[in-house]
Amino acid sequence: MADDKCSKCGKEAVICREYEGRALCKKHFSIDINKKVKKTIREGNLVESGDTIAVGLSGGKDSAVMLEQLVEIFGDRPDIDIVAIAVHEGIDPYRDESISAAKEMCDELGIELKIGRYSDYYDLKMDDVADAGAKGNCTYCGIMRRDLLNKLCREVGADKMAIGHNLDDEAQAILMNHIKGDMKRMARIGPKKDPVNHEKFTPRIKPLRDVMEKEIALYSRLHDLGVIDRCPHVQETSLRPLVKSFINRLESEMPGIKYSIVSQGREISDLVEDNIDWDDKDNQIEECDKCGEPCSGNLCRKCQLLDEIKVAADSSEKHSFELD
Ligand SMILES: [Zn+2]
Ligand SMILES: [Zn+2]
Repeated sequence: MADDKCSKCGKEAVICREYEGRALCKKHFSIDINKKVKKTIREGNLVESGDTIAVGLSGGKDSAVMLEQLVEIFGDRPDIDIVAIAVHEGIDPYRDESISAAKEMCDELGIELKIGRYSDYYDLKMDDVADAGAKGNCTYCGIMRRDLLNKLCREVGADKMAIGHNLDDEAQAILMNHIKGDMKRMARIGPKKDPVNHEKFTPRIKPLRDVMEKEIALYSRLHDLGVIDRCPHVQETSLRPLVKSFINRLESEMPGIKYSIVSQGREISDLVEDNIDWDDKDNQIEECDKCGEPCSGNLCRKCQLLDEIKVAADSSEKHSFELD
């Protein structure tokens, strides 16, 4: 195993990559991260001339590193526009802090930032509806966030939305799809595939999908990017943390396993995709009767959830009134 000297220049190393058997200093590690991101973009043909790319900023390390990398790679290209988008869920002060950090970062990079608030689009704040629904806060919030990010993409005229999914996220998603036997989602694994194929749905790209989470964390520390990202209303589902710790244990025993899970997942995804009848009516994407957003069925999940939250809030209001 490599010692604590950079295998390129002999300076002090910031990381020992067991999966490659080499160590890298800050400079060579940073160059290598940039190379990995460029390779992902080039091989997946993720960005094309004329594209407006909306970068979803969460305030966390992944999306901050992604924006910095995209600006470094495409900042001087007159034929490619980069716009940042962020969602304020109405979680104070957690989200106020990360939004002001996002603003600061965009100002420094000279990037326009478009913010969408749940209060403006759905007439609610997560602080007011947290713990109101039976499905758990992260489910509700995630569905609304996805809906709003897509709306923001249309508002800024984005051709693609870049999301900060890293190698670990991708490996977890692949294993979870296997465990749940979710073939349709399996078919949608890949750098440029989407859960929804519809003209109102902005295609997603994942420029960080070949970079490990811990390397993004290290890069963000070394370059002072992103803020602590821990929502006070978080309620994690039981499966993902289990899968995450399982994959991390495998990786420590067998360095490089995350890369093999992801590359196999990609191959399986292509095979599965060929075997799904996308013209079948169960696989068709319609528009929601209520809000017009793309969905499968008559009512989109966001509209269903907003209804559920409303019912739960009404009944708890009645209940507290009775107690008074
Ligand atoms: Zn070096
Ligand atoms: Zn709807």
